[in-house]
Amino acid sequence: AVLTRPDPFASLNPQQRQAVEHGVAEHDERALLVIAGAGSGKTMTLAHRVARLVMAGADPQRVLLLTFSRRAAHEMERRVGRTLHQALALPTSTRPPSLPWAGTFHGIGARLLREYAPAIGLPERFSILDRADAEDLMNLARQEAGFAAARSRFPQKGTCLAIYSRVVNSQATLAAVLRDAFPWCEAWAAELNQLFAAYTRAKLQQHSLDYDDLLQYWAAMMEEPALAAHVAARFDHVLVDEYQDTNRLQAAVLRALKPDGRGLTVVGDDAQSIYGFRAAEVRNILDFPQQFGQPARVLPLERNYRSTQPLLDASNAVIALAPERHAKQLWTDRSAGARPRLVTVADEAEQACCVADRVLALREEGFKLRQQAVLFRTSHHSAALELELTRRQIPFVKFGGLKFLESAHVKDVLCMLRWAENPRSRIAGFRVAQLVAGVGPANARKLLDALEPTADPAAALLAWRMPPAAQADWQDFLALYAQLQQAGQWPGDLDAVMRWYEPVLQRLHDDAPARQADLQQLARIAAGHASRERFITELTLDPPEASSDEAGPPHLDEDYLVLSTLHSAKGQEWSAVQILNVVDGCIPSEMSTRDSAQIDEERRLLYVGMTRARQHLDLLVPQRFYVTDQVKHGDRHLYASLSRFIPEALAARHFERVTPLATAPAVAPAVALARPVDIGGRLAGRWGG
Ligand code: ATP
Ligand code: MG
Repeated sequence: AVLTRPDPFASLNPQQRQAVEHGVAEHDERALLVIAGAGSGKTMTLAHRVARLVMAGADPQRVLLLTFSRRAAHEMERRVGRTLHQALALPTSTRPPSLPWAGTFHGIGARLLREYAPAIGLPERFSILDRADAEDLMNLARQEAGFAAARSRFPQKGTCLAIYSRVVNSQATLAAVLRDAFPWCEAWAAELNQLFAAYTRAKLQQHSLDYDDLLQYWAAMMEEPALAAHVAARFDHVLVDEYQDTNRLQAAVLRALKPDGRGLTVVGDDAQSIYGFRAAEVRNILDFPQQFGQPARVLPLERNYRSTQPLLDASNAVIALAPERHAKQLWTDRSAGARPRLVTVADEAEQACCVADRVLALREEGFKLRQQAVLFRTSHHSAALELELTRRQIPFVKFGGLKFLESAHVKDVLCMLRWAENPRSRIAGFRVAQLVAGVGPANARKLLDALEPTADPAAALLAWRMPPAAQADWQDFLALYAQLQQAGQWPGDLDAVMRWYEPVLQRLHDDAPARQADLQQLARIAAGHASRERFITELTLDPPEASSDEAGPPHLDEDYLVLSTLHSAKGQEWSAVQILNVVDGCIPSEMSTRDSAQIDEERRLLYVGMTRARQHLDLLVPQRFYVTDQVKHGDRHLYASLSRFIPEALAARHFERVTPLATAPAVAPAVALARPVDIGGRLAGRWGG
């Protein structure tokens, strides 16, 4: 009998197949753009293309695959592996080639900068500041410049960092960014400029790069012809998912990597661009075809494989109301299925209750928790739901929310490693020095000031003497620091830090055992990394997610519900999706209704959320909803209307309306007594006096 291998590409439709085969069999040097709607198989096609290229002889080490999150990169690597396995009929015991250069722009940037550090005047052991660190550093600079006086209305550290980040990523002037995105800060232009100069100096001085620097340095490096040629020569193929959410720096990096477009593939959907607020440029994808010597090849995908027809119709109707047209014809043969539901509830508490009910009901119907997700506009909108889920013991993980790494004890340990790695980091040093009993902010600052001008801060640190009260514990600390300086064993270094930290934890926190469990989780993660530096870098760039379980994120084989912000849900899919608070003031967010560009971005965000669902989609509409208007100093408003993105006619046509608790008894009317009973006074009277 003739053995035929199963063809992993057999299920591709003709358009997808063209994208996968582009330039492989027939000679074609054009860049490739796949621009297509949600659920049309862009990501899947990209994965198949990588597999196809490898089968045609491409070296996986020379394939650069850029995704939006590291989770997406892992997922992609798995898909490529599976496809190769099938295509090459590999025995199950052999592992398919891995893709060492699959990651996010920031992650890949960090790796390249580490490698090329000597060539671009960067210290090899530079630290990466996460957002919280960068805010702290910005705050220090703010205070030192005297802009943070108690009664001044100078922008908060978070706003300062957002403005700075926007300037860097958009490559626009500070004046333009303030005018377009932060008009209420325009009066501070001169001070902000001075502040950003100080912040930049502080980073240089402390051998620290923030997230934006990872792109900024990479892009600047690619402007040096010799370096650009060297980096570009390492990659035969560059492929990018979610291209609609890249910014100018990222587009510049890609052009420098593939100046003539040959070997460059990007995929995306302009109707899903949702990161304009972080300087993403939807023009990148729209202008892509014309950016190279010869026009790029553009392939559309028109068949949707994800959602049933009723869900697709509703999502299409929502995006069709956008003033800017995203003309795409999507069809599916999954015509059966229920319409999406608009679920009216009284308030957020009832919403939490109904969502939990629905999750359990769907589980009864056979949808595992992990096939379900609850999405929301802003991280804190899930608070009531998290309580309800915890009460009912429904396990969940939360994406895009408070991270495991933001807890004090995990930060303490990481900062210790980071300070050992880079003794110039003031942020790490300030935190760690104060963990030593008897060392306060004043002593910590004195130490850091003394280290700053020295050529060898680690040596100066080891020679530093603390005041007598702190001396004993300081000696213990120095012993550890000296050990870590010897760039010892990994993860042995972490064990040493943990041993030192344990009594500190006992002293500082009365809930030490729960925190200890987090640290054990950290140790497990550490064991999966090759070196201390890789561990610190990857955790800073891509922190593990928070979860309902004290002991850290659940293991993959457990069943858990996904909670996610709409932004973090991008690219993913679930059988059943519920979206919270689909009311005006939330979607669109009260913070984002200043101009029509912002409002349209909010509309696309709702579209992204709705298109995550395969079979069941519920939009929750609480009739009472509180929002905090930060621009107008925290006033609270009460909103109660369905989002403007779902006008009545659209709702009537495409949604089923549901009021789950309508039969619940109305709240009993208040009793009116001639004189109120003074219960408080009566109870207080019990104690005499
Ligand atoms: P998004 O815009 O949301 O990122 P996408 O265009 O990247 O969506 P994918 O996530 O790649 O779409 O695919 C959506 C779903 O359709 C996935 O479950 C995928 O496996 C499936 N799919 C795509 N193409 C095919 C096909 N030819 N045959 C069967 N299933 C397919
Ligand atoms: Mg995708």
